Amino acid sequence: MDKEHLMILGTGPAGYTAAIYAARANLHPLVIEGNEPGGQLMLTTEVENFPGFPEGVMGPDLMEAMKKQAERFGARFQYGWVTSVDFSQRPLQVSVDDSLSYAADAVIVATGASAKLLGIPGESELIGHGVSTCATCDGFFFRNKSLIVIGGGDSAMEEALFLTKYASDITIVHRRDALRASKVMQERAHNHPKIRWALNLSPLEVVGEDNRVVGMKVKDNASGEIRVIPADGIFVAIGHAPNTGFLQGILDTDRVGYIKTQGLSTATNIEGVFACGDVADPHYRQAITAAGSGCRAAMDAEKWLENSPLPS
Ligand code: NAP
Repeated sequence: MDKEHLMILGTGPAGYTAAIYAARANLHPLVIEGNEPGGQLMLTTEVENFPGFPEGVMGPDLMEAMKKQAERFGARFQYGWVTSVDFSQRPLQVSVDDSLSYAADAVIVATGASAKLLGIPGESELIGHGVSTCATCDGFFFRNKSLIVIGGGDSAMEEALFLTKYASDITIVHRRDALRASKVMQERAHNHPKIRWALNLSPLEVVGEDNRVVGMKVKDNASGEIRVIPADGIFVAIGHAPNTGFLQGILDTDRVGYIKTQGLSTATNIEGVFACGDVADPHYRQAITAAGSGCRAAMDAEKWLENSPLPS
């Protein structure tokens, strides 16, 4: 098995940016693309807040451009899903699709986080056509529209409050009577005149017509009544899950599974292993912050590789 100098796991804005910087530093990174090359931005339509694109850019086009930029400097890409790692030995071991084994001096983890979805009919078909998991990304497209936000946690309150800038009205649909969100966030949402409440309702189906959202079918958990709440857009805000299943018990993570990094660096608790992007960021979760941390991870890895006595 050949040994890689640097492997990058994941291909959202963090992984691609790390690949651009590492390739330009002559580290010839091998990038494992994952099952969804390009990550969450492949699910969005227009991205209007990534600097440098005054007219906006389609999420998939932005990801394709980042990949090409990394390839231009010599980054190599391998399609596949990282199934396990062994960071207890040197070189570090990475297994892809349970069939390919790699060894590397250093590894950057950029496997991202995935927004949780409800898994109901109509939802995945209408993503990008009225169903969204990111108010910051897509709220702008819903000026004076009626919206639904699903969830009862802080994310749902935050998304709903953000959307008040654009929407005519927002209904928060939550499956229980009690909210999980912090008191302060609940209070802010309760005090906002554009926000309405639809509690104790289970989402059953995203209703669409002509390939766009027109409402959500829900069931009243108390009465059993089924009805449709009309809406032009539905924001699903039921939490994110970092893609760290294969790292459990290996890298330090927080309670939810986000990788902990040390101080201002992207270093993890294991020498030569770095983390960047949403997989290590429960807070900002933006394409531009992920790209920035990908740059930092590549620079941290380069410095570490320069200064570490590596076994051959
Ligand atoms: P969360 O606290 O886990 O809340 C998720 C919400 O979605 C819950 O109300 C849950 O309902 C609901 N939900 C989950 N699965 C569902 C399903 N299949 N169908 C319908 N509803 C479902 O997640 P979060 O709101 O993303 O927050 C995550 C963490 O980040 C929290 O610690 C939060 O405090 C923090 N955060 C903080 C801020 C802030 O302070 N500004 C902003 C965002 C997030 P149940 O309540 O019934 O379980």
